[in-house]
Amino acid sequence: MSPHEQRQTSRSERLRLAVERDGARCVWCGRAFGPLVPPTREHLVPRVKGGPSWLENEVPACRRCNAERGHRGVVEWLEECERRGWRPDEVAITRSLDALLEAITERGGQRRARAYVAAQQRRVRRRASRPARDA
Ligand SMILES: [Zn+2]
Repeated sequence: MSPHEQRQTSRSERLRLAVERDGARCVWCGRAFGPLVPPTREHLVPRVKGGPSWLENEVPACRRCNAERGHRGVVEWLEECERRGWRPDEVAITRSLDALLEAITERGGQRRARAYVAAQQRRVRRRASRPARDA
């Protein structure tokens, strides 16, 4: 799909593609989607922080997590999920951050979102360089 076609993709289609890409469970709490847990489009870079409504900025999340995260940063909320004993899909989240930065580089603009993603990637890297905690 070309970037132009992708921008034209409808919201419901983007949700379907995000679930196909990341799996049929909430990236934050890991609950499987179903009639009682419908998927929603979660913006990694919140719209109020300049996040575009692109597939690269959207991951599937349950309503509860989507609403509860609010405008918290990606890594801040990821760590909150871990404190609650959930297993957030860090691989899917970091993959989307990388893909989003790549899409911004390719399409241009999005200065606020670019700065936001770069800051989150630095925080993810700091997490990765920390010694592993005992399981
Ligand atoms: Zn959730």
